[in-house]
Amino acid sequence: MKKILVTGCLGQIGSELVTELRRRYGNENVVGTDIRKPEDNPVVTGGPFEIVDVTDRARLLEVAKEHKVDTIMHLAALLSAVAEAKPQLAWNINMGGLVNALEVARELKCQFFTPSSIGAFGPDTPKENTPQDTIQRPKTMYGVTKVSGELLCDYYHTKFGVDTRGVRFPGLISYVALPGGGTTDYAVDIYYEALKNGKYTSYIDKGTYMDMMYMPDAINAIITLMEADESKLKHRNAFNIAAMSFEPTQIAEEIKKHIKDFEITFEVDPVRQAIADSWPDCIDCTAAKEEWGFKAEYDLEKMTKDMLEKLKEKGI
Ligand code: NAD
Repeated sequence: MKKILVTGCLGQIGSELVTELRRRYGNENVVGTDIRKPEDNPVVTGGPFEIVDVTDRARLLEVAKEHKVDTIMHLAALLSAVAEAKPQLAWNINMGGLVNALEVARELKCQFFTPSSIGAFGPDTPKENTPQDTIQRPKTMYGVTKVSGELLCDYYHTKFGVDTRGVRFPGLISYVALPGGGTTDYAVDIYYEALKNGKYTSYIDKGTYMDMMYMPDAINAIITLMEADESKLKHRNAFNIAAMSFEPTQIAEEIKKHIKDFEITFEVDPVRQAIADSWPDCIDCTAAKEEWGFKAEYDLEKMTKDMLEKLKEKGI
């Protein structure tokens, strides 16, 4: 990884990934791209930035060539709840964008990263200790695009020799950029509302366990996997990774340790609840640990303390 292009880089992950990549590899060596360009955004002002719609392959190729990149990190996608509301658009962006980015990687011989998700599993998948290799019959358009994407990345490696790599992210919790319309967003919203109003109404029901991870661990995982020795990778794309599994009352209890009068109530959104019910409770990350040394630093307690501190510093 000497010169890296990131698509969809102004989202929840990209906003922090680009900053960390620029810190490690140099500002000039990380080209941010997105369909929008807010002039005051530090990712836009902190290094090279280009407007690229990933459904426009020619434009993506032009920008990748112009900047002579050797690595593509492809993040642009519609997330689970948005994709369920706009399934045709989600197919076009998630699959059309992915195949375009893979084609550019093939043509320019780039290393390639894209994230899959716990959304790639479905109601028939074992819910506890979900294996790395298991049944994947998701019922959502997001899940359909994620499984298809995992297979396509495997294909580009075996057929064309592209160095594709990827993880299945759980719900990601962060304070820099707001999440983009996923099912696990409640676990971010709850911290903002706890500080602003001392209470939170959850659209996900009590007792619904999902895997989660704090953003610093997610960013670290991407970079560690990309730098890992290729000969050690038996899997390539879609490594299960997670740091913690909890349900809404557990995160509320943790927040109460810092904001003692904090209250959680429930108004369940049937669409997002159905998505959550179809996902695993907790996944098995053994392959990622064994093949490239995945580890997470933050559990629920440590993350909650840091989230509340960082949001307070932001003036929330
Ligand atoms: P996000 O919704 O926060 O950001 C997506 C970015 O893509 C946005 O900045 C948006 O402007 C951009 N975008 C949308 N359409 C585009 C297009 N046609 N061309 C170029 N850019 C476009 O998403 P995120 O949370 O940063 O997720 C990034 C990736 O990680 C996605 O593939 C997502 O499925 C995956 N993922 C995220 C999570 C999570 O909890 N955030 C969990 C699992 C997997």
